Amino acid sequence: MVNLHGKTALVTGSTSGIGLGIAQALAQAGANIVLNGFGDVEAALASIRTLGAEVIHHAADMRRPDEIEAMFALVAERFGGVDVLVNNAGIQHVSPVEDFPVQKWDDILAINLTSAFHTSRLALPGMRAANWGRIVNIASVHGLVGSAGKSAYVAAKHGLVGLTKVTALETAATGITCNAICPGFVLTPLVAAQIDAIAQREAITPDAAQARLLSDKQPSGQFVTPEQLGNLVLMLCSPFGDQVRGAAWAMDGGWTAQ
Ligand code: NAD
Repeated sequence: MVNLHGKTALVTGSTSGIGLGIAQALAQAGANIVLNGFGDVEAALASIRTLGAEVIHHAADMRRPDEIEAMFALVAERFGGVDVLVNNAGIQHVSPVEDFPVQKWDDILAINLTSAFHTSRLALPGMRAANWGRIVNIASVHGLVGSAGKSAYVAAKHGLVGLTKVTALETAATGITCNAICPGFVLTPLVAAQIDAIAQREAITPDAAQARLLSDKQPSGQFVTPEQLGNLVLMLCSPFGDQVRGAAWAMDGGWTAQ
């Protein structure tokens, strides 16, 4: 569907979960890959190398604009610039507003929202010079609707959908598109932590907690997969995506249709 040979894709927060799945899809389409994030970096690098792609990793903390700038400097030196930017890094914390830890609020806003402003402002000049680029912001159903206990996350993801619309408008007459993807539940470490918390709180098995999590929100009763999200990113990178601009594209098993 899409040939990204000669192009470079930077995926933030791509050492695990959704980001790694998207990086693998982009590698399969031929792009050079820039990974970012913490944890098992070597395993993530190896999984991209086996697909035959050029890959590097930079451990920029998405809370730190200076480290984001250093990552872009490395990418410019190694590959010449960023053609496909996927803003995926994100963290979660569940707590009522009145108990929400202030530092957690600041971290969630910095990682889930503000980092996408920094990466976008750094990527756009090169994309404009090439008159081609793709920015894909991994928002969430929580960029479209709320859930109790997720104030910072919902605020950040709604903000990310807003940033997506403005970036799409500012690039509307160019070969650059900017869109958001709004996944429902995907079984990654971020969601596994929520399943563990439900199991503990309600003294039920992890399987029962998983079923509870899905049945509360996701009518399909099934998780979205990183592979499905990777293929949606590929569609947005293909010529079929040329006129998809400023969308908040739900892939959520029917969550936001309710
Ligand atoms: P994950 O915990 O598996 O992966 C998060 C990634 O972000 C990891 O690579 C981690 O190292 C990286 N990261 C964390 N803090 C960072 C920081 N300060 N700087 C740089 N990297 C950092 O999570 P996931 O479920 O794959 O989530 C990925 C994105 O998808 C997030 O933005 C999340 O909000 C969004 N999302 C997830 C779901 C879901 O159900 N899992 C649903 C909707 C949206």
